[in-house]
Parts: sequence; C-alpha cells; structure tokens
Amino acid sequence: MPPGFPSAAKWCTNGMPWTWKTISSNGHIRRGRKMNETTVRLPNGAELAVLLKPHSRARRLKLRYDAARRAAVLTTPPRTSSATAMTFVERNLDWLLGQLEIYADQEVLGPDRYLSFLGHDHLILHRPDQAGRVDRQEGQIIVGGPAGGFDVRLLNWLKKQARTQLEQAVAEKTALLGVTCHRVRIGDPKSRWGSCSSRKTLSFSWRLIMTPASVLDYVVAHEVAHLKEMNHSAAFWREVDRLVDHRDRSRRWLREHGPRLMALQFEA
Ligand SMILES: [Zn+2]
Repeated sequence: MPPGFPSAAKWCTNGMPWTWKTISSNGHIRRGRKMNETTVRLPNGAELAVLLKPHSRARRLKLRYDAARRAAVLTTPPRTSSATAMTFVERNLDWLLGQLEIYADQEVLGPDRYLSFLGHDHLILHRPDQAGRVDRQEGQIIVGGPAGGFDVRLLNWLKKQARTQLEQAVAEKTALLGVTCHRVRIGDPKSRWGSCSSRKTLSFSWRLIMTPASVLDYVVAHEVAHLKEMNHSAAFWREVDRLVDHRDRSRRWLREHGPRLMALQFEA
C-alpha cells in the first residue's frame, strides 16, 4: 500500500471550490506572529470576515473568497507581518467585493426559487394543503406539508435522491474496475465533492444532485479510481479515463459552477 494511503481523505480535494487570487509578496517579518480573524470594510460599506491562515510551506500570500463560509481566507507564508497581510487584503478589496456579488443573488433555497436537479432547473413549490412529502415532476419540485420543517423535508429528499444516484454510479464503476467499496457516505463538506478513505469508504456531497449527471458521474469515477490508485498519478488518471470520457469538461464545470452550489443555503 503506498504511503499516501491513510491520509487520502485529507489530500484528495476533488473539485475544491475555491477561487484563488495569487500575488507574490515580499513580506517576511516577525517570526511566529499569528492572527486568526479580523474584518475589513468593503468599498460598498459592508463588513467581511477575513480568516488568516499561517502556513509553514506557503511561499506567497494567497487570498480566496470562501463562499460557503462567507469569508475571505488569507494564507500567509512564515514571517509575514500582520501589516503586510492587511495591506495585501486592502489592495484586493474590489476583487473581494466582486466575489461577494457573484454569489449574492443565489444564496438561499426556498419556495418559488429555482434549484438545479441533475443539471436541469426545477421550480421549488410549496403546497401546504398536500401531504408532507416531496415530488418531482415536469420541472417542478413540489414540497407538501406545513411551512414548519419545509427546508428539512426538501433537504432530506435531496439527500435521498443524491444517495440513490451516487450508490448506483458507485456500483457500476466498482464493477467495471473490479474493486470493492466498503460504504458510501453522503454528507455536506464545505470544501470537497468527494473523498476516499483508507477503509474504502467513499464520501460524497449531497450537492452533487444539483450538478449535471455527467459531473456526478465524473466525481464518482474519481473516487472509485482511488480504490485502485491512492494518489493522483498518471496511473490514477488512466483508471478515471477508463470510467468516463469527459473528465476535463467535468472538472472545468466544477471549477466554474461548483462554488455557487457549495454556497447555497436553505431558508431558516
Ligand atoms: Zn482525488
């Protein structure tokens, strides 16, 4: 077993939905100086949380907008001063505001909003006079029952649909590669679409039910291929290519649209 095997779930960042802003810095000042969280004021007056993450192997400052946490995350190399860090953030306030605006109009799921189901837009409808179950028909997702618990019913239904699709895809692909999967877990990790553990458990985000079927298929192929190759070597990608013929297209799709899906929230 390759040495990388046990930590697979940590390093496989399949479809990491970050948008990176990378600019070289020459900040190298006091050793061991750390900050954790601060806020900045954006050009439109809004406040935004900034999380600072010192990283021993980082070679330059990296700023990203984390849509799921609604915060900016700044990775800093060793010996970066807080002044250097904050100057860097302040120089990029317009970019952060732009990121915020990209995600602002699509953040909440609820009645009369559109939800992508396997890549096709569906209108979410609430029918309080009907039984408390969820049905999908002709471009609509109809949620019955009282307003209380609406989002729980919808979310549970989406997770169940995701499980059905994902388990079926896992069964097909493990059979094709002649590998076995111990368990399929469905969760809601903030930073990845799928992962594979050393115990042969495949974990997936329920949010994959919102992606086109081909994208869901690619993420499953990626994790199933890890049951054979616990790395991201050329041999690993050859296994992926045995399972799907659209991996580059799917990866591009996830990079482009994934962050919006990860940022979607339910009305409380
Ligand atoms: Zn991977």
